[in-house]
Amino acid sequence: MPMIPDMTQDMTPDTAAKPTVPSLETLDRLAAIVGEKYAIRDADAIEPYLVERRDRFRGASPLVLRPADTQQVSQILRLANETRTSIVPQGGNTGLVGGQIPFDQGSEVVLSLGRLNKVRRVDGLDNTLTAEAGCILHDIHSAADGVDRLFPLRLASEGTCQIGGNIATNAGGTGVLAYGNTRDLVLGLEVVLADGRIWNGLSSLRKDNTGYDLKHLFVGSEGTLGIVTAVTLKLFPKPTDVATAFVGLDDPAQALELLTIANDLSGRRVTAFEFMPKVGLEIVLRHSTTARAPLHDAHPWYILIEMSGGGEDGALRETMATILEQGFERGLVNDATIAESEAQSQGLWHLRTEMSETQRHEGGSIKHDISVPVSKVPAFVAAARQAVEQLVPGCRPVPFGHLGDGNVHFNITQPVGADKTDFLGRWEEVSAAVHAIVADFNGSISAEHGIGRMKRDLMPMIKDPVELALMRVVKREFDPNGILNPGKVLPAED
Ligand code: FAD
Ligand code: ZN
Repeated sequence: MPMIPDMTQDMTPDTAAKPTVPSLETLDRLAAIVGEKYAIRDADAIEPYLVERRDRFRGASPLVLRPADTQQVSQILRLANETRTSIVPQGGNTGLVGGQIPFDQGSEVVLSLGRLNKVRRVDGLDNTLTAEAGCILHDIHSAADGVDRLFPLRLASEGTCQIGGNIATNAGGTGVLAYGNTRDLVLGLEVVLADGRIWNGLSSLRKDNTGYDLKHLFVGSEGTLGIVTAVTLKLFPKPTDVATAFVGLDDPAQALELLTIANDLSGRRVTAFEFMPKVGLEIVLRHSTTARAPLHDAHPWYILIEMSGGGEDGALRETMATILEQGFERGLVNDATIAESEAQSQGLWHLRTEMSETQRHEGGSIKHDISVPVSKVPAFVAAARQAVEQLVPGCRPVPFGHLGDGNVHFNITQPVGADKTDFLGRWEEVSAAVHAIVADFNGSISAEHGIGRMKRDLMPMIKDPVELALMRVVKREFDPNGILNPGKVLPAED
């Protein structure tokens, strides 16, 4: 598969603190902590840890360590800190900005958390779950389900990504509208610091106003401040009533009016409000063998609405019907369907979750993960579309995503028949145009995927200088020798 060029491929790690290439002796000592069986050095076996799944980022490493527990992580970091060995934490390797992939100098050791995969405790009364960082998100869902509770973080990568990775990236997904980002779902953390000390912050408290809330520094820190080894999460009542609808309409502004109606009439039970354009649905229908057209005719835009709550099964379907009727009456909705069964609901969700994956069958895609204030999404989409169509005539903008959160995955598929490499070669230019419009709307160039190595060098342009300086203070204090994921998130200082 050809590499997708991006402006940061040649970036070198942060020069603020230069970790050294580990000696053979250091590598042997690190390997001895986990045992040879879990210290991977063989070139073939190491390969999957060095490549991002979409092959957008590749790196090199002399050693992958797979520790069994928090104590081993602590020993590894103590030794790495003494020997100035760079450590790249890796969870499920589903991150989209290259944070989990080492650079290509071959001097960084990968720390893979997958063996720390025990659910330590589930408490249906406190509504909490404590799990180790390497637990797969899907297994957390199952453990919560076991006590009839919901853990509401929902990502298309949930079968592979790990809760530690979700915390390190402050993952978003399709449940944010009702339950917040990962940050909002965390009560406590256990973290191994750069010098090997273990911070046991696994609190289950809902209220604790005793000074600085340090856990939030680690949430979204992308492995640059500490290694998350365990987490206490919030659980929620499992919905007993769910209604899913697929709606065809003319533009996203109408969709936002419909969202207001839905919130008002349902008592804020809307748990997902996702949007996609006609061209996006056409691509899914063309390339997914299990996808079925949800409505009789095509429409310029589509919305997937999910409402859920604790009432009697079926009640929310009636509420959904009332909402859609009002939408028709006000001229907001062209056509709509409400799922009559769990299978139908899954079929509608499939159309949304396949949106990104199926685009690759159409050639190259230049992708963005941006956010603007919710009310500004329609104007942003119109302006960004116009800008990229002017730059690359014939390109196919596919803006889709979490409309209810103002989070647009502004993907642009290449013109039909164009050369993929030529198109992707314009990534930087096209992104600059999209990001300039994001700035006009006071938005963010990374809504939910993080900074990693991909967007690192944009930080001075998007962050207030005082904020960036404070981030550097935090980094230096937590990791004075710069061994934790160097060269990610923060650019080198001048
Ligand atoms: P990795 O990719 O392994 O690592 C991500 C970052 O976290 C790296 O910087 C790494 O160094 C660090 N890290 C990992 N584990 C730890 C740890 N224990 N301690 C400290 N640092 C650590 N993201 C969204 O936000 N919303 C979506 O809807 C979404 N959908 C996706 C759909 C698909 C098909 C794919 C492939 C990805 C999607 N993602 C989405 C991106 C990705 O799944 C998330 O960023 C996820 O949280 C990463 O988890 P991971 O375990 O794979 O972490
Ligand atoms: Zn998303």
